[in-house]
Amino acid sequence: KIPGIALVGLGGYATGQLAPALQETKHCKLTGIVTGTPAKEEQWMKKYNIPRKNVYNYNNFDSIADNDDIDIIYIVLPNSMHAEYSIRAAKAGKHVICEKPMTTTVEDARAIIKACKENNVKLSVGYRLHFEPHHLRAMELGQTEEMGKVLNTDAAFSFVLNNKSWRLDKQMAGGGPLMDIGIYTIQGACYTKGQWPVEVEARYGEVTKPELFNSVEQSISFTLKYPDGTTSKHNTSYADNANYLKTTAENGWWELKPAYNYSHISGTTTEGEMNFSNVNQQARQMDAFALSIIRDTPILATGDMGLRDMMILEAIYQSADTEKPVSLDLSGLYIPRY
Ligand code: NAD
Repeated sequence: KIPGIALVGLGGYATGQLAPALQETKHCKLTGIVTGTPAKEEQWMKKYNIPRKNVYNYNNFDSIADNDDIDIIYIVLPNSMHAEYSIRAAKAGKHVICEKPMTTTVEDARAIIKACKENNVKLSVGYRLHFEPHHLRAMELGQTEEMGKVLNTDAAFSFVLNNKSWRLDKQMAGGGPLMDIGIYTIQGACYTKGQWPVEVEARYGEVTKPELFNSVEQSISFTLKYPDGTTSKHNTSYADNANYLKTTAENGWWELKPAYNYSHISGTTTEGEMNFSNVNQQARQMDAFALSIIRDTPILATGDMGLRDMMILEAIYQSADTEKPVSLDLSGLYIPRY
């Protein structure tokens, strides 16, 4: 049987990316939805041929445990709701994909991992770029030291956010651009090197739009230091535009630009253009998770990877708040390398 997925939270990402991707997956399919908006129920049932019995709301969510059509629950809610719904999904005996950032606190990330272990279900975080060919090549170049040892990485992801949304509310989002998009630059630097930081140093940027940025940061820049003494430099902002991941190694360099889009990522190396076709990242990501369930093989984007990133994010905020470097101990986590 092909595993069935239920999407929880039918907002922008579920509607624009995940549901369409689930029309292209080969090893899993969209079989259910969870929504608090009755009007969406009818639309989605019709559009994706979902039977009434596979439609849930936030009150009857837990009864999904009795539904054999649903094997995987994909949490696509605002960040502060990830922990509650991932844990409820695990308790319902379903495998869990939790969107990034995994949670808004380290403690919550640990609670999700614990619930999934206790209920013997698999857990992954929605890190779609681990399934994108340009990023896979960047991991390979960095981790195999094909162009020598990686000396440094420079990464930025910023866009202009002008409308009020839960993303600007610290309670709901856990933080600002760092939590939402800066996380991609952390991921990029870590999987390029195959090492995780031992120290972070961060500074908040200037607030030029106080009417929007009175709860979360407008921008933040930070440096991550690795066990081998090298560093990566990062910038992320909701009041600017930037989108790249550039690495310099001993004998060459490579740059992805744009690096973090849903499609048409472009890459160049010292040796010329990377020639990879465009793929559906989300379809690949969900198929990989479904296959690891079908074959009972290890997960690539593990819960521990999500936890690692929460620990890094927390340390970055702590460093920016105190204006001092903060050390990190990320040993003992299960995070597969390239
Ligand atoms: P969105 O605001 O478009 O959708 C959020 C959904 O949650 C909406 O359907 C909303 O109705 C629902 N919701 C339920 N309770 C809510 C509440 N109390 N307040 C606000 N909304 C509530 O957001 P989105 O862009 O779809 O993001 C959802 C999650 O997906 C976030 O965690 C985000 O970080 C993640 N995301 C990941 C990617 C990616 O590339 N992996 C891209 C976009 C978003």
